[in-house]
Amino acid sequence: MADENGMTSLPGVFAGGDIVRGAATVILAMGDGKRAAKAMDQYLRS
Ligand SMILES: Cc1cc2nc3c(=O)[nH]c(=O)nc-3n(C[C@H](O)[C@H](O)[C@H](O)COP(=O)(O)OP(=O)(O)OC[C@H]3O[C@@H](n4cnc5c(N)ncnc54)[C@H](O)[C@@H]3O)c2cc1C
Repeated sequence: MADENGMTSLPGVFAGGDIVRGAATVILAMGDGKRAAKAMDQYLRS
């Protein structure tokens, strides 16, 4: 489980793509990665 930015319930652990969505597409996995990268950057700066 992950929120809309890929953050899981474990602090500092992000997830995206098929592991979160179930079987989906490359473009959705790439979008998840892009959103999660921004969220990771914010997380590490806070
Ligand atoms: C047969 C098939 C055809 C497909 N065709 C298309 C298509 O034409 N177009 C399209 O958009 N999508 C297609 N898809 C879907 C697409 O492949 C997936 O949606 C996409 O690859 C998901 O990306 P992901 O990064 O979430 O997962 P994955 O690409 O599955 O990447 C997960 C990675 O994690 C690694 N891993 C797993 N466990 C561990 C561990 N414990 N430690 C370290 N690494 C680990 C795996 O080895 C893998 O490299 C297809 C899927 C399948 C099965």
